[in-house]
Amino acid sequence: MRLKDQVALITGAGRGIGRAVAEHYAREGAKVAVADLDLAGAQQVVDAIEASGGSAMALAMDVTDEKAVDDGVAAIVERWGRLDIALANAGIQHIDPVHKLSFSNWSKVMSVHLDGAFLVTRAALNQMYAGNGGTMLYMGSVHSLEASPLKAPYVAAKHGMLGLCRAVAKEGAEHGVRSNIICPGFVRTPLVDKQIPEQAKELGISEEEVISKVMLKNTVDGKFTTLEDVSELAVHLAAFPSAAMTGQSIVVSHGWHMQ
Ligand code: NAD
Repeated sequence: MRLKDQVALITGAGRGIGRAVAEHYAREGAKVAVADLDLAGAQQVVDAIEASGGSAMALAMDVTDEKAVDDGVAAIVERWGRLDIALANAGIQHIDPVHKLSFSNWSKVMSVHLDGAFLVTRAALNQMYAGNGGTMLYMGSVHSLEASPLKAPYVAAKHGMLGLCRAVAKEGAEHGVRSNIICPGFVRTPLVDKQIPEQAKELGISEEEVISKVMLKNTVDGKFTTLEDVSELAVHLAAFPSAAMTGQSIVVSHGWHMQ
């Protein structure tokens, strides 16, 4: 087991990529706090982890709510005594060209990704600095490194998370905290399934063309990245044994965006 007895917080873990990472961490021996806006979804993930013999707790947490994030981290420390790994994963998407984008939709996307990542980072660092250090992880995207049309707030927010990750790597070093960002290509989750018809409408092409000509066009083999691909990388980064790997963006995308 690569994460035996480590305590991990994952936001947006009630479904999708966050759920897959939570379940993989639990299989690797971690105790996992499953945080989500959707408490029922988080509880289902906890039930599945516990049914497989793992340890988990569900947290109702809106990552844009300062008190909810601070209270959630306090509840983890009260239950398990410390926090070793935090993954800022909660995210949303919004499809619109910039000239039609409302300020409220811009702000909402920026807030969930960037304010959320900041609040989770601050609360987690206070625990990690007081303990034995730890690992900050961010769920970025290939869109942390390049742009696509119709996704300006998402692209801007994901680039911002890369900057936060790097700043935390610099500040965290002396406290034994590493910080890295995972940058997946397209993974079939509700977040992606929702945008396929939206992009088809906006671009005037079929849904099949959105998949083959937009989403997977720049991969080496026309394949989606899987939940298992992303969760394996999240385990690898959390378990990495030294500070040699910090401040890095790791792309997992079937070759879309080679750095
Ligand atoms: P998803 O929509 O399946 O899951 C997102 C989860 O985040 C949901 O459970 C939702 O309830 C939760 N959430 C949303 N707003 C929240 C908030 N304010 N506070 C707490 N929880 C909140 O999406 P996903 O595809 O699993 O995406 C997870 C992360 O991975 C996101 O940051 C996303 O940008 C990133 N990502 C996804 C893909 C992809 O192709 N699916 C690719 C690259 C990066």
